[in-house]
Amino acid sequence: MRVGVLGGTFDPIHVGHLRAAEVAREALRLDEVWLMPAATPPHRNAPSASAQDRFAMAALAAGERRCFRASDRELRRAGPSYTVDTLAELRREAPADELVLILGSDTWAETPTWKAPERLFAMCEVAVVPRPGGPAPGSDGPAAVAVHRLDGVFLAVSSTEIRRLLREGKGIRYLVPAAVADYIEERGLYS
Ligand code: ATP
Repeated sequence: MRVGVLGGTFDPIHVGHLRAAEVAREALRLDEVWLMPAATPPHRNAPSASAQDRFAMAALAAGERRCFRASDRELRRAGPSYTVDTLAELRREAPADELVLILGSDTWAETPTWKAPERLFAMCEVAVVPRPGGPAPGSDGPAAVAVHRLDGVFLAVSSTEIRRLLREGKGIRYLVPAAVADYIEERGLYS
C-alpha cells in the first residue's frame, strides 16, 4: 500500500491541510493519507488546544473522505514527536508499505534542522506542497531524497489566522470542515 503521512500541529486542522492531502493523494497515487497530529511538536510553542481536541478535529476532518484517516500514533508516545521516530515505527510495523511524507514548502525548508533528516528521508518519499505565501518549494534539500514537488491549486489558510479570527470573535466557516467548526464552537476552543 502507498501511504501518505501528513503530520502537523493541526491547531486546528483546516482546508489548506486537506487540500494538500488530496492533491498529494491524486498526484502520487496514494491509497490512504494519514493525518497525524503531533503530541508535543519539537520546533514550536505549545499548541493552544489539547492533543485530544486536535486529534478529535483531525478525525472529524478525515471522516469526510474514505481514504483519509486520523492517526493518534504520536499521541501515544511520550516526549517530543520526532518524525524520524514515527516513520521508523511505521516501517517496522509494515515493511512493505511505501511511505510518502507530505510537507508544506515552509516545513520542507526547516527539515535540515530536524532530528536525523538523512535517516528520515531514507525511509520515505517526500511530497512538497507549495504553501501560498510561503517559500518556493526550491530545489535544495537533503541529498539523495526522492522529492516530488507538487503543483496544483492550494489554499492560503493557516491555523494561526484561524486562531486570530476566533480570538477576535469572528467566524471561520469554510476555512475548516463544517464538523470542525461545530466542534470548536461547542467546546469553546480558541476564544
Ligand atoms: P500554524 O499557522 O499554527 O503554524 P499551520 O497552518 O502552518 O499552523 P501545521 O499544523 O503547522 O499548520 O501544518 C502541518 C503541515 O501542513 C505542514 O507541513 C505545513 O507546511 C502544511 N500546511 C499547512 N497549511 C497549509 C496550506 N494552506 N497549504 C499547504 N500546506 C499547508
